[in-house]
Amino acid sequence: MKKILFIFNPRSGKAQIRNKLMDILDIFTKAGYELTVHVTQRCGDAMEAAAAYGGNADLVVCSGGDGTLNETISGLMKLDQIPDLGYIPAGSTNDFASSLKISKNMKRAAEAAVFGEPFPIDIGCFCGDRHFVYIAAFGAFTEVSYLTPQDKKNVLGHQAYMLEGMKSLASIKSYGMRIECGEMTLEGEFIFGMITNTMSVGGFKGLVAQNVALDDGEFEVLLIRTPKTPLDLTNIINYMFLKEEPNEYVHKFRTRSLKILSEEPIDWVLDGEFGGTRREVDINNLKKRIRIMRKVPKKQ
Ligand SMILES: [Mg+2]
Repeated sequence: MKKILFIFNPRSGKAQIRNKLMDILDIFTKAGYELTVHVTQRCGDAMEAAAAYGGNADLVVCSGGDGTLNETISGLMKLDQIPDLGYIPAGSTNDFASSLKISKNMKRAAEAAVFGEPFPIDIGCFCGDRHFVYIAAFGAFTEVSYLTPQDKKNVLGHQAYMLEGMKSLASIKSYGMRIECGEMTLEGEFIFGMITNTMSVGGFKGLVAQNVALDDGEFEVLLIRTPKTPLDLTNIINYMFLKEEPNEYVHKFRTRSLKILSEEPIDWVLDGEFGGTRREVDINNLKKRIRIMRKVPKKQ
């Protein structure tokens, strides 16, 4: 009998799985799977469960927010043979689920997990020991996302806590950095950076290019230099929220890997969760490393 390991975070997205759990388990059972269910107990638990039990499964399905997805993938990355992954989004943000066109309807997402087709996606390797699925970021707009407790995230929603971050722009912190990649080297003071493999990030319109591929072995990179005047800052914000013309403070490019050296340790955020404090960061794109199940698009 085929085996599913189902890992879910009971608290994600106002505990919305509470009313859908029976349906989800029923869908898996009807599809002919033997089930192992792991209810996450604390931070890090999804990663441990995926690493410990994922090797015995034909399919691993996780349900929760971006953090649960990140943990599950990080756990799977420790396995020699990585099983296919299904994802049932339940968080308040789920940027990545929308990039993958995975339904927000939990039953439909569960059906896609067992009846869909595997779609390979790139995985970001961060400093050799951490992984991210869709974003690694530092600076001005990132702190709120992981400092905000889950309950508050549920109440506010993603956009609201991004806006919370904008309030602190007056006290924006600037970092002296050197960024190296195959294509170029940048030096100077920066307030924000993100390395992404996704079509949307928290409601920001101008941040990510239109023609993003999740399986091309490349990241989209956005770096913002420290503005010198309030007008410069306004231009940057307009660019981020309203998708106006890029300006001299904004660097946008694609790359397979990059190295960032900073004068002082910087807090990083990986898929919306705290990713550690580092002075030196190496980021590499692991092309098509995980296969995510999704609904087969209907032929025209
Ligand atoms: Mg890509």
